[in-house]
Amino acid sequence: MYDVAIIGAGPGGAAAAVALGQRGITNVVLLDREGFPRDKTCGSGLSPNALKMVETLGIGAEVKSLGVPINSVRIVTQGGREMIVASDAAAMVLLRRHFDHLLVKRAQDLGITLKTPFRAVELIKEADRVVGVTGFDGETVRARYVLCADGAHSIFSPDPRPKRSISTLMGWWDDVDVEPGRLDMVFDKNLSPLYGWLFPEGQGRVNIGICIDGQDASGEKSKRNLRATFRQFLDDHYAKALAGATQVGAFKGHPIVYTTWVGEISVPGALYLGEAARLTHNATGEGISQAMESGTFAAEAVARVLRGSHDEAAAWSWYLMQHRKRFTGAFVAGHALRAAVASPVLDRMADAYNNPMVRKLVVKLLGSALAGSSVSDTSPGSDSAEPPTSQPSSRSSRR
Ligand SMILES: Cc1cc2nc3c(=O)[nH]c(=O)nc-3n(C[C@H](O)[C@H](O)[C@H](O)COP(=O)(O)OP(=O)(O)OC[C@H]3O[C@@H](n4cnc5c(N)ncnc54)[C@H](O)[C@@H]3O)c2cc1C
Repeated sequence: MYDVAIIGAGPGGAAAAVALGQRGITNVVLLDREGFPRDKTCGSGLSPNALKMVETLGIGAEVKSLGVPINSVRIVTQGGREMIVASDAAAMVLLRRHFDHLLVKRAQDLGITLKTPFRAVELIKEADRVVGVTGFDGETVRARYVLCADGAHSIFSPDPRPKRSISTLMGWWDDVDVEPGRLDMVFDKNLSPLYGWLFPEGQGRVNIGICIDGQDASGEKSKRNLRATFRQFLDDHYAKALAGATQVGAFKGHPIVYTTWVGEISVPGALYLGEAARLTHNATGEGISQAMESGTFAAEAVARVLRGSHDEAAAWSWYLMQHRKRFTGAFVAGHALRAAVASPVLDRMADAYNNPMVRKLVVKLLGSALAGSSVSDTSPGSDSAEPPTSQPSSRSSRR
């Protein structure tokens, strides 16, 4: 019998395991249907908030040594304007294969047990209380508390609301002639109000992807053809850059599940966290930092009960409040960003970008809306050496 069983060892579940270990709670088992290291379909971008979290979780040095620092963000508006904003390594790209493994190893170093492959199929309940989990082969794992961190496709979530999701498709290429450390966000009309991206993974490899709404306004599944939209996006924006490049592997897609108001994330004996609790940003699709923060809240909630400072009901209520306090503002701002993207506002911002006062405002607004934190001014009078640009994009790669 464990104190805690965690289903899913992505950033959410692994962060919860690390945070429990940091609190001296190590009779914990981390379960995943896959062995580590393993791949995860993801842009692998770590925002400033994610980089703060990795420091707290004790893997900051490893992430910095393995990740590709993002020095600038190139934003292309729906009207084809382009802005280049310095990010001064405030964000990084680190392949999920490596990033998730670092977190899992950190949890193991703290004394947490990793058990893979273990595909959870059912929660074990006694008198309406979750007391463990059953695996695909019938094996059972019993625990005083269960944390469900099984991601977008969570089969355990108690949230009765229909899922809202972002559909994605992405691919990888080698030998792409891109500026080192530059990340692209391309707000193409075909993807409105969402965007396409190019993230540098280092040594000439990039990942490029698109995201579009998974449902229309009435909640019906979108009928847009994702593959055709992606092909069009690549032709419109990256034909030149990819001319001499080699595609690595096949295109991959995965939904990103989001919410604006955090819903039911606990039942007696269990907490739900990360993307299983729908904690991604509705305008950017970011979910790694939210998953890690959520995992840390879950660890603290369980620790409060195990230490005896709170009863379970009080700890679970604290857990929900932490999520609402932490994420509601950013998720509401995400809807404002969606509205701005679909209107000429970003174009106007880009046009005004040569005015230093406006530039400072743009940097501030984009910094909080996109990164959740800092991006910096690139104007001649600012600290950055790189000159700013705002110019009509050719709708094809500039290289
Ligand atoms: C194309 C794409 C690009 C993205 N790009 C970014 C980005 O650049 N930056 C960013 O911050 N976010 C990005 N995201 C979002 C991010 O990937 C997720 O929000 C984040 O991984 C959520 O973390 P999590 O730990 O909650 O879930 P996951 O990372 O999905 O981890 C869930 C884990 O649970 C395991 N699991 C699932 N079911 C079971 C089961 N039944 N039994 C046992 N184990 C199970 C899985 O194997 C997995 O290891 C992107 C998402 C997509 C789809």
